[in-house]
Order: sequence, then structure tokens, then C-alpha cells
Amino acid sequence: MAIERAHVQAFPRPWGVVDLTPWSNAGRDGVPIGEIWYERAARPAPSPSLLLKLLFTSEPLSIQVHPDDAYAQSMGLPNGKTEAWYVLSAAPGAKVALGLKQQLTQQQLRAAVDDGSIADLIVWRTVLPDDVISVPAGTIHAIGAGVVIAEIQQRSEATFRLFDYGRQRELHIERAIAVAIAGPARFRSRPNRFTDERSLLVSGPHFVLERINLAPNSTWSLEAKRETWLLVLSGNAVAGSFEVGIADAVFAQSDRVDIRVGSTGMTGLVAYTGIGPVPHLLRRHTQPGTKDVARPPIIQVPPSPTRAKPASTNALETTK
Ligand SMILES: [Zn+2]
Repeated sequence: MAIERAHVQAFPRPWGVVDLTPWSNAGRDGVPIGEIWYERAARPAPSPSLLLKLLFTSEPLSIQVHPDDAYAQSMGLPNGKTEAWYVLSAAPGAKVALGLKQQLTQQQLRAAVDDGSIADLIVWRTVLPDDVISVPAGTIHAIGAGVVIAEIQQRSEATFRLFDYGRQRELHIERAIAVAIAGPARFRSRPNRFTDERSLLVSGPHFVLERINLAPNSTWSLEAKRETWLLVLSGNAVAGSFEVGIADAVFAQSDRVDIRVGSTGMTGLVAYTGIGPVPHLLRRHTQPGTKDVARPPIIQVPPSPTRAKPASTNALETTK
């Protein structure tokens, strides 16, 4: 059982930003910060499966790709990297890139990397705050200048750079070409609103990402059987025994986090391991010490054309 206020680590990057307000004051000594990582506070503790980060960009990041689990394991790494982005802020016209304009063979991709035309072949889209972008392993991607992004990812070091705009960093072209899906990618995930409080942003084989929006002065329990990360986007609350505000994060596992929301409400991202959303992720306390179990969440499954009409028990028995 664990509930911890996440430890924050800031990393200087050449493409980073000095003024990180309102998310952090880590760049105040003039060193551009590109990444803020949230780590478990408990030491020693098993390494989590997921890594939660904030990214701050003043220049485009490299065009890159990550391997899937099978390829990473063939290199002796524990797992590959699928990631998802939630845009926290974006300068006017700020863009991210995902996939290619057309399907390329591996030879064509290699040629496009060699002559730099890859920079024109990737598909750039303008992003706005609250946009959600799912980046499965194998997707060629890049993040442009002028964005603040919350990123949740499988914890992995496996990044293969295809192109870096002439910067002197190491490229990993052969590995990148081997794992890249050299064609168009699906761009944007549409949030699926479960309840007034919960919106499903991403649900994949490695993690689930939700956005939560809790009313002022309400009290909740957040079910965190799985490895769970809560990142506060606005407002404030007491989560477990920790006072949390904007850009604070809480790690929890095999536990239940009581959240007492402050007077301005609280929005946040919740990311957790596993396949599919947890049905009872949030339970509202109607009064101190009691749970409102009469309000189960309504989880709507999109209608599937292949699904049979609801069958009565009798119908099932007669088809045996
Ligand atoms: Zn990446």
C-alpha cells in the first residue's frame, strides 16, 4: 500500500524554457528546463511501470520513434514505449507531428532521413490546450516549439532519433527504420465522458489516461489498486495527507486515496496501468466518513456493429 506525493525532478534541455509558470519555478536561475519528471518519493521502492512528465519546448524536438515491447525485449530492454500527450498550453500555431503523409517503404524512409525531406513528410497539426494525442509504439512523432505537454508513457529509455534538424545529437536511424510504421497515423483521441467527473482520454494495452473534474468542497475516494498517478491541472485538494495544487502529482498503488477538494474545485489527469478503465475509480463521499454507493458511474461502451442484440436468458438456453 502506498500513497506518496511525487518527487519532482527538473531536467535542463537545449530546447527547454526558462519561464515555467504556472507549472514550476525550476527554470528561475536562467537554465532552460525541458522536462519535469515525477518520481516515487519512497526510497527504495520498485521502479514504477509508468513515467509521468511535463515537457516545455522552445524549439522542435527530434523526429523520433519508440519500439514496441517485442522489439525492446529483443534488445534486452524490459519493455517498449507507448506514450500519450495532453496539451496543457500551446502558443498560437504550435504544432506536434504524428505519422507520415504517405506510406513509404523502408528504403524510401531511409532516403527521406538522409536528405532531410522527412521533416516535410511528417504530418504536423496545430494543437490547443486540452488536446489529447495517443502515440503508440512505432509511430513517428515530433513535438514542435511553444507547447507545454503532460506526457504519460511506459517507462523506457528506448528512443530512436530519425532526424534532429542538424543538431549534433546521436541518431539511431537503422533501429528507427526497423520499428517505424512508415505511414499515416491516427491523430487525435476524442475524450469519452463517463460521468460528470470522469472523461476517458486514452485506453490502450499499457495504460489508461483519464481527466477528472471535481466540484468545489466535494470529497472523493480514488481507487488505486493498480499503479496510479494523479496530476493536478488546476485548483487544489488534499489527497491522502498531502496538500496538492497545480502541477503537483501523487503516486498511489494498492491503496485508496481520499481527496478533499478545495473551494475552487480541482481538475487533474489520472493515469494507471492495465487494460481498460477501472469502473469505480471515483466514489463520492456524501458526508464525512460515508460513501455514496448509490451513484455508480455510468460507463458507456460504444455500440459495436458485431455485437448481438441483448439476448434473454431463455434465448441463451435455447441456443445451447
Ligand atoms: Zn517520444
